[in-house]
Amino acid sequence: MIVLEQLCKTYHLGGESVHALDHLDLQIAAGDYLSVMGPSGSGKSTLLNMLGLLDTPDSGHYRLEQQEMSALGEEQRAQIRNHKIGFVFQAYHLIDRLNARENIELPLILTGVPPRERRTRVDELLERLGLSRHAAHHPHQLSGGQRQRVAIARAVIRRPALLLADEPTGNLDSHSGAEVIGLLEELNGEGITLLVVTHDPAMGKRARRQLWMQDGQLISDTRNRDSGDPD
Ligand code: ADP
Ligand code: ADP
Repeated sequence: MIVLEQLCKTYHLGGESVHALDHLDLQIAAGDYLSVMGPSGSGKSTLLNMLGLLDTPDSGHYRLEQQEMSALGEEQRAQIRNHKIGFVFQAYHLIDRLNARENIELPLILTGVPPRERRTRVDELLERLGLSRHAAHHPHQLSGGQRQRVAIARAVIRRPALLLADEPTGNLDSHSGAEVIGLLEELNGEGITLLVVTHDPAMGKRARRQLWMQDGQLISDTRNRDSGDPD
């Protein structure tokens, strides 16, 4: 589903060059579940931003579902981002003046889905994620776990093929964190390709495939034998 070839991203700070991604090669199969670990500054967020088309590499190739991303203009990138990719962040990034329902509905409004279908899809998802009774609540009225569930709902309401999560449980207690991970894994079970950046070794181990980064390179790539994955 995803092929990265010799991907490079260098930041220049004063006289210093930082190789945030250093000739990185990576292939990801559709439906897989990966965790990305590594020390702070090793390039995890940069990798996520590249995969999510939030940032562009200096050189190298990125093919998503056989389509070369590097050559696309910003408008096409936004189009693909909106339809194929969902994002979940540590700090939720919900809109405070909208309630839970409105936050989840927003991506459908932005892509021109008609009101009746919007209502059906949002209702279904609220129900599934156990959020129905919180539909009218604003983010500040929700717990961290509930906010992250709303953020996940917003990320998947357009049924993306790829879900990218950057420290999704970083602000949560262990109980809410486990719920959030359970939810992400349930969505992966339904076929969505899931990539989670985490500092939590326990969470890293839950993934079917674990990547470890250092200095902008992949230094380890292991498959979890317990996961029941065919290869
Ligand atoms: P991680 O997510 O693993 O902590 P990042 O991808 O955020 O790592 O950063 C990788 C390296 O790139 C770090 O050295 C960081 O300081 C640098 N970096 C990231 N973003 C920028 C930026 N916008 N400007 C300058 N340097 C950056
Ligand atoms: P969840 O069911 O999402 O795991 P929690 O168990 O974390 O929710 O929280 C239970 C209740 O406690 C929530 O309905 C919420 O109203 C309240 N609560 C928990 N944490 C917070 C918080 N940080 N701010 C406001 N309310 C909170």
